[in-house]
Amino acid sequence: MTVYKRIVLRFPQRLVDRPIVSRLVRDYNLDFNILKASVTPEEEGLMVVELSGEQEDYDKGIKYLTTNGVKIQSLSQDVLRNEDRCTHCGACVTICPTRAFEVDPATRQVSFHDEKCVACGLCIKACPPRAMEVHF
Ligand code: SF4
Ligand code: SF4
Repeated sequence: MTVYKRIVLRFPQRLVDRPIVSRLVRDYNLDFNILKASVTPEEEGLMVVELSGEQEDYDKGIKYLTTNGVKIQSLSQDVLRNEDRCTHCGACVTICPTRAFEVDPATRQVSFHDEKCVACGLCIKACPPRAMEVHF
């Protein structure tokens, strides 16, 4: 059975420049498409990928990643903004690796483009009034 998944990979600093993901193709017959990649302020690598391949290969590939210290998060959870709580302080704007927040230069209001969000969770800790919420 062929599986097709979108996942977030978080690489600790020691793995950021290692060719971990390319081994998924070579050793595990998986196809991958990098949707987004960035390095967070904590120097952690963050990558959103689409992976596809046979279920068995996928499971082995994921095991290979996790045993090498890569944290995997599925995109099934949603991060939403509680509009009543947001004070438009802007603390989330630079921290978001996918630029899901935008400041209107005229009004200084911060808009949230949830279609860009990959649910990495970084803004949740960074938001002073805790306006960013995870919904499962
Ligand atoms: S950090 Fe929180 S309160 Fe500040 S702009 Fe972002 S969502 Fe709004
Ligand atoms: S969880 Fe927050 S920081 Fe992460 S991608 Fe979504 S909006 Fe950006």
